[in-house]
Amino acid sequence: MPEGDTVFLTAHRLRLALVGKTLVRSDFRVPRYATVDLVGDLVEEVGSYGKHLFIRTTTASIHTHLKMEGEWRTYCAGERWTRPRVHARVVLGTDDTEAVGFSLGTVEVLRRADEHTATDHLGPDLLGPNWDAAEAVRRLARHPAQPVGLALLDQRNLAGIGNIYRSEVCFLRKVHPATPIDAVPDLLALVNEAHRVLTEAAHRPPWRALVYGRQRRPCQRCGTRIEVRPLAETNPASDRITQRERGIYYCPRCQPEPA
Ligand SMILES: [Zn+2]
Repeated sequence: MPEGDTVFLTAHRLRLALVGKTLVRSDFRVPRYATVDLVGDLVEEVGSYGKHLFIRTTTASIHTHLKMEGEWRTYCAGERWTRPRVHARVVLGTDDTEAVGFSLGTVEVLRRADEHTATDHLGPDLLGPNWDAAEAVRRLARHPAQPVGLALLDQRNLAGIGNIYRSEVCFLRKVHPATPIDAVPDLLALVNEAHRVLTEAAHRPPWRALVYGRQRRPCQRCGTRIEVRPLAETNPASDRITQRERGIYYCPRCQPEPA
């Protein structure tokens, strides 16, 4: 599942491909926006907020979310696509480039002035220019009993973390993912660690996980076998199905279970 750094890097790639160019083709393959035509619009900016991507043209902001399988690919005009055409949800063409959004989870065409409605509910963006660690701490602290491994996924607390980085952040801070928020020794340090890890992943890829995906392999700190398990669902706003299926990775010795 793409996390904030993937979306940040996607925005960067689309920016290089599209900004300053006029659209000669716009094709929205979702029923609600099938008749939208942005031909003639200039692409002015591409931005991201958490896991949300915005392609801003003269008249609209195209809001997309990659969810599980989504991705944006860019091609030279006329180049053969590398994913099945049937998976394309948005096609934006300029004189020399085609940007294709495949298998996107969300597609919305918003007025520029309404773009904020897509992100108003989110906590501070870990990779944004207005990142605010104190605000993220304040939001996390609103639900003191919530396990930290779930709280880090809740985009209303802080935006950009998915399954990979929640495991990493808990490991780096030596907190068990089931630890309730009010029992985490230093919330600000936790939030700062999340910011550091995501920033590194976004600005110096490829980034390598210390704990994620390493079940039954030795902890790089103490040699104990890494374990993986799901966390009990306690947050009705997060995605129940993925919560059940996606385990969190941790070292049982470095991250002792809360009493
Ligand atoms: Zn360990």
